[in-house]
Amino acid sequence: MNKETYDVVIVGAGIVGAACADTFAERGLRVAVVDRDVVGSGATAAGMGHIVVMDDSDAQFELTNYSQRLWQQLRPELPDDVEYEQAGTIWVAADEEEMMEVLRKREYYQKRGVAVAVMDARQLKEAEPNLRERTTTRGQAQAGRFGGANI
Ligand SMILES: Cc1cc2nc3c(=O)[nH]c(=O)nc-3n(C[C@H](O)[C@H](O)[C@H](O)COP(=O)(O)OP(=O)(O)OC[C@H]3O[C@@H](n4cnc5c(N)ncnc54)[C@H](O)[C@@H]3O)c2cc1C
Repeated sequence: MNKETYDVVIVGAGIVGAACADTFAERGLRVAVVDRDVVGSGATAAGMGHIVVMDDSDAQFELTNYSQRLWQQLRPELPDDVEYEQAGTIWVAADEEEMMEVLRKREYYQKRGVAVAVMDARQLKEAEPNLRERTTTRGQAQAGRFGGANI
């Protein structure tokens, strides 16, 4: 029988359990992580890896902006095979009403120190050539690019 003892046992080896384990271990605690399945097989396996600053509410903005700053601090410590790209988030406006929303977002993000660029259809096509043709060739297609990263 295994007689190992631990200071902390974490149930769930997704990104949250792993982050908790990392923090505890950094502080010198003996940590065990257990999972009923394969490590990282839950919602973490489905994640698109998009670290996006969101603005559905002020609280959400503060939390997601803070989270992105933490990822940027962590980045130099990540192994080389972790792909991390500071690419920004493209929010496509397909009509005038959606463009008004891009402009509102621009003001909101700019006021809070998050880099923003508004792009025209040509710049959008250059930035994201995989967008379907109809989206980027429509005269009114424009977009905003907001702080964000992919991992
Ligand atoms: C399609 C999709 C795309 C997403 N894209 C993004 C994205 O781009 N950016 C982003 O930030 N977030 C994204 N998310 C959300 C993100 O993936 C989750 O918020 C995050 O992975 C949750 O991590 P977690 O560790 O809490 O949960 P999980 O990864 O689900 O980990 C929980 C672990 O607990 C284990 N477990 C559960 N019950 C028990 C038990 N009784 N005993 C033992 N083990 C147990 C499970 O097996 C699992 O491994 C996305 C989610 C989905 C579904």
